[in-house]
Amino acid sequence: MVISAPSGGGKTVVRSGLLKLDKRFAFSVTCTTRARRPGEVDGRDYYFVTPERFAALRKQGMLLEWAVVHGNYYGTPVRSVMSVLAEGRIPVMTIDVKGARSVKKIFPGAVTVFLLPPDLKTMVQRLRGRGEAPENVAVRLRTARSEIKVASSFDYLVINDKLRETVREVAAIADLETRKTGRNLDKVRAFGTQLSKKKFR
Ligand code: ADP
Ligand code: 5GP
Repeated sequence: MVISAPSGGGKTVVRSGLLKLDKRFAFSVTCTTRARRPGEVDGRDYYFVTPERFAALRKQGMLLEWAVVHGNYYGTPVRSVMSVLAEGRIPVMTIDVKGARSVKKIFPGAVTVFLLPPDLKTMVQRLRGRGEAPENVAVRLRTARSEIKVASSFDYLVINDKLRETVREVAAIADLETRKTGRNLDKVRAFGTQLSKKKFR
């Protein structure tokens, strides 16, 4: 499950909410060259790497996708996603819109969700509330102009008004997606095998 949004759209808090709500979800930690913010933990929030290390990871094909966001490199290690899938859980990827497009190309079965705050005023308040300096808010709003242009290519749009409801809506999307026939053909086949072995009198 890929969640994108303009900065301040709620990706981080919605992800935390999903992980708390339901053990099916697991965060696939990504790596970045940006500086660690106060309170962030290496290996939990991101793998914080040097530009040299990032370049090496890219060269070795260790990244599923990568992008430059606000002047820093970000990338999803293949292993982060594969290890969650191997556990039979849903990897939650909170990445930018370019990354979302790359993931959808590689995994057409990925479900993409675009989050939007209810309105611009709320988004600015939330960015300020998160402690972003006015110049950072301006950069993020400028980037948001191009990000919302691609919102229509996402599978789902969720308006992030009340956090609890947003988290529930995203979890509901996962519920429905896991019930799609195409994702469950093995169960149909298993039932069919049982039927074919059964002798009817
Ligand atoms: P993103 O990761 O998309 O940049 P965040 O998850 O950091 O966005 O959210 C930006 C700020 O807005 C954070 O301070 C967060 O706590 C707050 N926020 C996000 N969603 C809501 C919401 N539904 N209600 C109230 N505050 C919210
Ligand atoms: P921040 O620095 O505020 O944590 O994140 C900046 C942006 O980078 C956010 O839109 C975030 O979702 C995105 N991002 C984080 N990790 C990745 C990643 O691995 N790949 C891509 N493409 N974007 C990422």
